[in-house]
Amino acid sequence: MKKVKVQNITEIMNRLAPRQFAEEWDNPGLLVGSFSAEVEKIFVCLDVTEETVQNAVDFGANLIIAHHPVIFRAVKNFRTDLPLGKKIETLIKNDVAVFAAHTNLDSVEGGVNDVLAEKIGLIDVKPFGEEFSLGRIGYLPNKMDAENFAKHVAKVLNVDAVRLIDAGNFEIEKVGLCGGAGSEFISKAKFLGAQAFVTGDVKYHEAQSAVENKIHVVDAGHFATEFPIVHVLAEKLKAECENLGYNVKIAEDTTSRDVFKNILKG
Ligand SMILES: [Zn+2]
Repeated sequence: MKKVKVQNITEIMNRLAPRQFAEEWDNPGLLVGSFSAEVEKIFVCLDVTEETVQNAVDFGANLIIAHHPVIFRAVKNFRTDLPLGKKIETLIKNDVAVFAAHTNLDSVEGGVNDVLAEKIGLIDVKPFGEEFSLGRIGYLPNKMDAENFAKHVAKVLNVDAVRLIDAGNFEIEKVGLCGGAGSEFISKAKFLGAQAFVTGDVKYHEAQSAVENKIHVVDAGHFATEFPIVHVLAEKLKAECENLGYNVKIAEDTTSRDVFKNILKG
């Protein structure tokens, strides 16, 4: 069996989510560790949190593949008494490298947004703009009213509740979506003919303009609209490693939960 290096895995990742599809402001790629380090075990997750780092270390991972970059803004210190420095310290002490595929994984075919569209059951799904871009637009097989559509989204994403921004009494056939924080695309989806948009992290004034724009919005949460990619990505990595004869074990994060909880009045 050939020895597998971080470099070999990043080559796979660059095929699955080419870096050139990342937004300009993004920070994907190898963020912690070395390309020449050996890899026997990989842990796939959405976020590099204290908990996922611990789970990766317990699994014996040499590499974490995450969606959200653990280092995003310019770092001016490595204070190990603060959460980020502490995480980086734990990663380095345990020889765990971290690679992120962020907006490149959102945009690529079969990435975050296609997985979300598939979960919702959209057909004839297309990117918003160029061949690859953030956001997708597609059709429901059968028209639905806003409330039933919101219930459907909650069900397929397995969440207790979603927030519906009800823009009036009209049915939904064409749906736009963007996993994570995608409310900047609500008006684009409307322009492309969508009657509804699915995303997370919608703010009050964005919701108000959606109503004015006559497009329903389902805010299903940042976490719930992106988490399904973890399993899909882990499976793709497994298949690629098998094809290449890489003896690598891959585990996926199954324990992370949305940081937001819905508490109903008692
Ligand atoms: Zn995200």
